[in-house]
Amino acid sequence: MNQTDGGGRKVVLVTGASSGIGAAIATRLAAEGHQVVAGARRTDRLRELAEGSAKAAVRSGGGLHPVRLDVTDRTDFAAFARAARDRFGRVDALVNNAGVMPLSRLDSLLLDEWDRMIDVNVRGLLHGIAAALPIFTAQGSGHFVTIASIGAHQVVPTSAVYSGTKYAAWAITEGLRQESDPAVRVTTVSPGVVTSELAESITEPGAAEAMRSYRAHAIKPEAVADAVSYALAQPAEVDVNEIVVRPARQR
Ligand code: NDP
Repeated sequence: MNQTDGGGRKVVLVTGASSGIGAAIATRLAAEGHQVVAGARRTDRLRELAEGSAKAAVRSGGGLHPVRLDVTDRTDFAAFARAARDRFGRVDALVNNAGVMPLSRLDSLLLDEWDRMIDVNVRGLLHGIAAALPIFTAQGSGHFVTIASIGAHQVVPTSAVYSGTKYAAWAITEGLRQESDPAVRVTTVSPGVVTSELAESITEPGAAEAMRSYRAHAIKPEAVADAVSYALAQPAEVDVNEIVVRPARQR
């Protein structure tokens, strides 16, 4: 059974909602009438987002609710999901979007950056699954959406660790799909180059320079929000498993 309020409105948790793709997803879903619990560490940015989308959300009966969340902290993530369930009575979907991408060559030995990518992109995803799966199981419905990447399908120089974390995100999400009760749906969305703050964390000059031309044809984050909206809107018996959204000019 797909537990919504009868009007198709859902309670959706979105991680990494303070910028880029997560902000676009949260704004889009709130405007469609869903109750969106928007998590990230920069709560000032989340509050600005909530203020900016308040009118559209009120018109549609939705809402965007900012909550501080560090996905690398499993206790924090569990509390984030529980608080949403206690407030709204259910959680219909979790969009695991939070991610970091400090690209570099392996011989740069930027071990702290490797750790951060593993912590956010892999452990953060697992913490989300651990937080939401018991809720979905208890209520007999739920929908996981993982924002992976084109980097979950290909490796290029400087992307070894980032792509490694995204291959892992893809594999974990596919395993979740295979193991899940049919009432729990699982979707992976893999974006190509999208305008956001993602590349700002690159510290290696060569990788940063290469990224400037690579990102020249970036598409807007709303294109990814459209894909998430589409997957969530399908009837309960339809499970959209994988969507790749990339710029038409990206090879
Ligand atoms: P941004 O840098 O704009 O957004 C990243 C988001 O992740 C921010 O909201 C940030 O919030 C959040 N985040 C980072 N660390 C944590 C943490 N420890 N706990 C909670 N939130 C965290 O990048 P994008 O919007 O581009 O990235 C979103 C997702 O899309 C990522 O998973 C990325 O890998 C993926 N992606 C992006 C592509 C692109 O070209 N933009 C292409 C393919 C995939 P805060 O710092 O406030 O905590």
